[in-house]
Amino acid sequence: MERSFFCSSPTTTSAYRSNFFTKGWRIEVVASEEYLRRTAITRLSVTPSQKDRIEETLDEWRQGANIATEIGWRHTETRKRKLQSLAYDSIRENTALGSQHSILACFQAAQALSGTLDQNERMATRSKPTFTAPTIPYDKNSMTVFDDGTVSLSTTDGRIRPELVLPESTDGYQYAYLDNDEWSLTESRLTARDDGYFLHLGFRKRKPKLADQSAECRTVLGVDLGIENLAVTSTATFESGRKLSHERRQFERVRRELQRAGTESAHRTLCERNRREERYTRAYLHQVSNAVVEDAIATSCTHIAFENLTHIRDSMPGGRTFHQWAHRRLVDYVRYKATEHGIDVVFVDPEYTSRKCHECGHTSERNRPERDHFSCEECGTTAHADYNAAKNIGWRHVRHGLQNSGRTGDGQLALKSGTVKPNDGFVPYSAQESEVESTDKPHSSTESVS
Ligand SMILES: [Zn+2]
Repeated sequence: MERSFFCSSPTTTSAYRSNFFTKGWRIEVVASEEYLRRTAITRLSVTPSQKDRIEETLDEWRQGANIATEIGWRHTETRKRKLQSLAYDSIRENTALGSQHSILACFQAAQALSGTLDQNERMATRSKPTFTAPTIPYDKNSMTVFDDGTVSLSTTDGRIRPELVLPESTDGYQYAYLDNDEWSLTESRLTARDDGYFLHLGFRKRKPKLADQSAECRTVLGVDLGIENLAVTSTATFESGRKLSHERRQFERVRRELQRAGTESAHRTLCERNRREERYTRAYLHQVSNAVVEDAIATSCTHIAFENLTHIRDSMPGGRTFHQWAHRRLVDYVRYKATEHGIDVVFVDPEYTSRKCHECGHTSERNRPERDHFSCEECGTTAHADYNAAKNIGWRHVRHGLQNSGRTGDGQLALKSGTVKPNDGFVPYSAQESEVESTDKPHSSTESVS
């Protein structure tokens, strides 16, 4: 049985290796977790002669990687440097690869072999990996991106300098990495597809220092997830889920009709609708996650607190599976974006967050006479039920930190016009602002979701 291996993606390679290549032989051991990694994909515009040189380089690369794999296989060697010393000369003699790509071939072979050997420890038969994919890794020594939108790539026959086909407007996400000095180019790869050549440019930057974990310094944004309102924050931002649910219902109707039709063309239409539906949903969730993270930044939050998602509320009506999926995805997006700003995402026990009064702590089912409406039977506080829940969720993390540290610090919950601390009560964001917490009016930033 033959198995083919694509070269590893930049996000899975270790910082050890990237330093090894970007800084020559001076090795700095840096934990890979210290870096944020992103990939920007861009098409290459190549001339016929550049195309020939790329094709030859791809062929030679596969050959080189397979030579290293063969040698590693014979010697049962999966350590990168050991395999390099065994196979490097043979690759240089038998292929047109340069030194950098010869070393990379050894490393990729070692990685593929270790995967196979690890896997086969649990299997009766072993299969030698084979490199067949039309893809080749590049790094700072074999590739340079220039400001004029061209890239220099080493090939088996000198360097070529094709143009990057970047989006016309500066809206292209690639510019966020290309034009930003904070991101530096790291392991990348060139891939041939039916419709051309693509560079998967790997970028990395150091992770910002995570928020101070001590209870004294934390400012927490509480977020309640639901269906009618996809997300409600303790700062009274309401992100409606109505359009998403409406879109979902329409999609389900069309899907049933197409399935009933059962024809070939109905199947094609269904696949297309599926993709469209997924694109729409992701865009919607990205927009909501952006709003949540912007809220956290605007109120200087160190933490964003969600309910623990393994515990889904029983009151959730219909479309259960879809919304569970959407909530998880939303939390992933928030976490991914918040990390870039040094904001930590945490989860709290969801028990009673919808039935407990945020003002007095009284907990009762009767506090919530209707789905949207919270009205405390003890102290008379009324609020939107999701907003009350968001404050409970954030507050739970503020309290949790205090209990854990055993200190009486001043962790605080972010509200719309100020923060509230366990010991000092409400503090407005601005001293001039005489607003009090009870004036916090709900607002939304997804009214324009299309
Ligand atoms: Zn109350």
